[in-house]
Amino acid sequence: MAVILLAPLTAAAQVPAGSAPWIDAYREPASRMIGEALSNRFAWDRLAELGDTFGHRLSGSQALEDAIQWAVQEMKNDGLENVHTEPVKVPHWVRGQESAEITAPRRHAMVMLGLGNSIGTPADGVEAEILVVSNFQQLEAAADRVKGRIVLFNAPFTTYGETVTYRATGPSRAAALGAIAALVRAVGPAGLRTPHTGSLRYAADAPQIPAAAISSEDADRLQRMHDRGTRVRVRLKMEAKFLPDADSFNVVGEIRGRERPEEIVVIGGHFDSWDVGTGSTDDGGGCIVTWETLRIMKKLNLRPRRTVRVVLWTNEENGGRGGLAYRDRYKDQLANHVLMMESDAGVFRPTGFGFTGSEAARAKVHDIATLLRGIQADRIGPSGGGADIGPSVEAGGIPAMSLEVDGNYFLIHHTQADTIDKITPMDMSRASAAVAVMAYVVADMPERLK
Ligand SMILES: [Zn+2]
Repeated sequence: MAVILLAPLTAAAQVPAGSAPWIDAYREPASRMIGEALSNRFAWDRLAELGDTFGHRLSGSQALEDAIQWAVQEMKNDGLENVHTEPVKVPHWVRGQESAEITAPRRHAMVMLGLGNSIGTPADGVEAEILVVSNFQQLEAAADRVKGRIVLFNAPFTTYGETVTYRATGPSRAAALGAIAALVRAVGPAGLRTPHTGSLRYAADAPQIPAAAISSEDADRLQRMHDRGTRVRVRLKMEAKFLPDADSFNVVGEIRGRERPEEIVVIGGHFDSWDVGTGSTDDGGGCIVTWETLRIMKKLNLRPRRTVRVVLWTNEENGGRGGLAYRDRYKDQLANHVLMMESDAGVFRPTGFGFTGSEAARAKVHDIATLLRGIQADRIGPSGGGADIGPSVEAGGIPAMSLEVDGNYFLIHHTQADTIDKITPMDMSRASAAVAVMAYVVADMPERLK
C-alpha cells in the first residue's frame, strides 16, 4: 500500500489547472483525508468482517438485525456522535427450498433463484410446457398460446434499467394472459451459470403466479429447443412466502457541525441485502465507504461547519421502507438537508459522482471534485440519486449525489457471487477518500450548497 500512498499526496499538493481559488483552503484537509484513506485497508477489512461474520442480510432476518447492532457498536467505537437506531417495520419474505428442472423431453436440472416477493408453488410444484419470448411484443403476439404455460422471458441484457422491467413486471404480464408461472433470464451480463434474484412487482389486476430467474445458459438452451420446435416441459418448485412484517432499524451516526449543526449533509447506503452471497457490493461496501467519511474526520480531528450524518438504511431491496421512514421521520427538517449522497452501485474504482441539483450547486461540486484529480475521481456526471435518498430528495427538493464507479457490478449483482473477493482494498480506500473529501467540503464551505 505504500506505493499508492505517495501518488495522491503528490497530486493533491499540486494546484490543478482551472480550479477555483476558494477551493485552495481545502487542499490541506483533502490531502490528509486522502492520505488517511489510502494508507491502510481499514474499509476493506471492515467490509470483510461484516460479510464474514453476518453473511447476507435480507429484511426480516436475524443476520440483518445482528449486523445492525454490530454497526451501532462499531460507530460508537469510532467515536461518532448521536449514534442511534430508528425503527422501521419491514416486509419479511423468505425463500425456502426451491428448484427448477426441465422434465421433458429429457430431465435437466436448472440453476435458479426465485424472484424476491414471489409467491410459492404447491408442495409438488407446477409443471407445464414452456413458451419462450424475448420481449413483451412477442408475448402479446403469442397471447392465445400463453394459457396454462410457463412463460420464459429471454430478454438479452442491455442496461439494468431497461432489462429489469422483465423481472419486475413480466410475471404479471404473463399471468394476465393465463400463464401459471414465469421464468426470467437473469438480469445481468452472461456470467458463469449464475442466476440473479431481485424483486418482482405483482400488478393488482392479474393473478399472482410464482416466478424465478434462471441463468443465461439455461435460458439460451430453452430458447434453442423452442426455436427447433421441441416441446419442452419445466417443473418449478418454490416454498417462498411472506411472514408478518418484522422489526428493523435505520442506523444513524454523526459528526455534529461546529457552527451550523442543524444543517445536514447525509451520506449512506443500504445495509440490507438479498439472501445470496454476502451483499458485499450491494450494498455493504456503499455503507462502509460512506461511514468511513465520519471515521476519518474523527480520526483527523476535522469538524466541519455543518453536520455530516451517515445513514445505513434498511430494506432497500424488497420494500424501500428504510428510505420512506427516513423521509417521514425528518419531514420537518428536510429543508435543512444540504445534500444527500448514496453509494449503491458497488465499490469499484471510483470515477466521481453523479449529481442532480441547481447549476450553481453543480459548479461548486465541480470545484470540489478538482481535489480528487489525484485519484482520478473528479468526474461529475449528469444525474445523481439513489433508492434510499429518493423519497427525501423528492419531498425536500434536496440536491442529490451518487458515487460513480468503474466495475462490472451487474455481473455479480443479486447473485451468490456478490462476495468481498470481487472488491480490492485499493478501490475501497479510493472510494472512501472520494466520498470523504466531497462530503467534508460540502459540509464545511462557507456558503450553503444551493
Ligand atoms: Zn443496492
